[in-house]
Amino acid sequence: MSRVLIIGAGGVGSVVVHKCCQVPEVFSEIMLASRTREKCDAIAAQLPMPIKTAQVDADQVDELVALMNDFKPELCINVALPYQDLTIMDACLECGVHYLDTANYEPRDEAKFEYHWQWAYQERFKKAGLMALLGSGFDPGVTNVFTAWALKAEFDEIRELDIIDCNAGDHGQPFATNFNPEINIREVTAPARHWDNGQWVESQALQTAQEFDFPEGIGPKKIYLMYHEELESLTRHIPGIKKARFWMTFSDNYLKHLEVLQNIGMTSIEPIEYNGQEIIPLQFLKAVLPDPGSLGPLTKGRTCIGCLIKGLKDGQEKQYYIYNICDHEQCYKEVGAQAVSYTTGVPAMIGALLMLTGSWKGAGVFNMEELDPTPFMEKLNLHGLPWKDRIL
Ligand code: NDP
Repeated sequence: MSRVLIIGAGGVGSVVVHKCCQVPEVFSEIMLASRTREKCDAIAAQLPMPIKTAQVDADQVDELVALMNDFKPELCINVALPYQDLTIMDACLECGVHYLDTANYEPRDEAKFEYHWQWAYQERFKKAGLMALLGSGFDPGVTNVFTAWALKAEFDEIRELDIIDCNAGDHGQPFATNFNPEINIREVTAPARHWDNGQWVESQALQTAQEFDFPEGIGPKKIYLMYHEELESLTRHIPGIKKARFWMTFSDNYLKHLEVLQNIGMTSIEPIEYNGQEIIPLQFLKAVLPDPGSLGPLTKGRTCIGCLIKGLKDGQEKQYYIYNICDHEQCYKEVGAQAVSYTTGVPAMIGALLMLTGSWKGAGVFNMEELDPTPFMEKLNLHGLPWKDRIL
């Protein structure tokens, strides 16, 4: 029986609330708070049990503190934007509330995906006896747990890790992103970076590609090398890892539109003056692109996200692939969202469930791979994201 505050009434937030309501014996009292209260109320109206809703500006620590002191949650699930991570962590510390998020902090004026800002809270959370769980989505999130599981169950040592993210779905729109367009485009247009023999190697965005044959009829697709935040924590926490890369599929259509938008300056985060007002081109672009939430009823097809791992077991070299396949239309039928929101929201609920039931506990700031993967792997199978694995 726990009281949980969920911040952010977007695509992911909606899935988190739906999934928490499926486990009322743990999430007995829920409050959904966001910048726009009407969005919280619209989600609340779809749920099988009553929840509380509230308006909050999560950039303001004092507003968050007032809300937390009033509702008194045990845990705060942050599914607003990465810009709000630090203010929400500050409020949690002030009010004695555990913390969970799905994306690492990013400063607004620089597309930098680094954990150091949040790792700097380690001592404060430890001293307060509170737990902060970072990156409990799919990637980061499940991909970290898959890697920890592989190390626990399949390998003595992991040498190489390739995280491969495929969205083989189609929403029928000329150009749209499956989660917050501003965050998505900042991530995709950032330089690629991978770990090779103890150092980071940087390359131009979307320039390195190869083909990967996805399982269960999805088939061969081009995958592009990118940087993704879980590489930073995994290379720190998985001993002996020599190489770690992150790959994602993009349709030719998506890349064509993105290239044009980049060439004409629409993806820039440098402020410009327009009609006497300062605007950021990427934020303006977000305003004219389809809301990812509106893609739910339109998207068909499946996602396939997994880890391809090479290493040693009993002195022998071994290659292992572990993945989840998720169907956009089935997600929509269950919770009214497409699979990208679903695959993020379900792990957020599972991380929260493990914290609230004491399966995962500790004082300090944790990345997912630092905790025992077994209970999380069991819950994935129970709550809509079953995984499969094979030795290659
Ligand atoms: P959306 O843009 O759909 O939702 C974000 C929500 O946060 C919106 O409702 C927005 O309010 C609210 N919000 C924004 N700023 C504030 C603020 N200052 N105070 C209060 N509420 C605020 O994004 P998504 O749901 O697609 O993504 C949510 C998070 O999930 C992001 O951090 C994203 O990076 C992460 N993510 C993680 C993935 C993973 O696998 N780990 C994959 C996909 C996403 P309003 O509606 O008023 O704008």
